[in-house]
Amino acid sequence: MGILSLETQNEALLTKWLWKLDRDSNGLWAQTMSILYGITNTQQLLPNINYSEFARSICHLLPFYRVATIPDEFFPIIHWKFTTHGNFTTSSAYAVLHDRGIRCPLSTIIWKLKVSHKVRIFIWLLLRGRLLTQRRLWSRGCQVPSGCHLCMNADLESSKHLFFQCPYAMGFWRMLLFRFNITFPPTNPTRVQDLWYMIRKGLDKPAIRIWDTVWVSGCWAL
Ligand SMILES: [Zn+2]
Repeated sequence: MGILSLETQNEALLTKWLWKLDRDSNGLWAQTMSILYGITNTQQLLPNINYSEFARSICHLLPFYRVATIPDEFFPIIHWKFTTHGNFTTSSAYAVLHDRGIRCPLSTIIWKLKVSHKVRIFIWLLLRGRLLTQRRLWSRGCQVPSGCHLCMNADLESSKHLFFQCPYAMGFWRMLLFRFNITFPPTNPTRVQDLWYMIRKGLDKPAIRIWDTVWVSGCWAL
């Protein structure tokens, strides 16, 4: 088993603690979280610097967990999407985190890039519009301050804006492309993943490898 698989296995095991918090509310773990932080389910869980290191590490898996579950407003109890019986299994979480559960053409590329696994998951969530932006937090009833801190746009921050439509992001991409001598696509892309794909189509194999890494690093830096 390589380093990547161990990382993925660890994340699958951490995801199990999120599941236990929702599904085993009388269990020792849920009671501990309730006593320590007043939290009884994952909906109340938000990244917090006052949490223990372990609690903070499971918070990193929250965006993935929210993609992977159907909340109890649709079923009598919370439902895991990637097993037929709707119950969590570590192996199904591992398969999805390792991208054997869901596939899209771009995600197969992402999973092969030589970047840290943390960055892969981040890009994977970006491609699926699942990053915890202000827009998504508000849709979940979490009233965080709104507006882009970079361009002072007052609208709720979305992935589209943050990674591409913000004048700051656009300037960043133009500068980066200029540095790597890559031409900006003549047809204006509207999302950062369209920019990636449009440029990719016109490159040869060695250049594609460089562009993939530049794009992923650019998204991570923004
Ligand atoms: Zn902005």
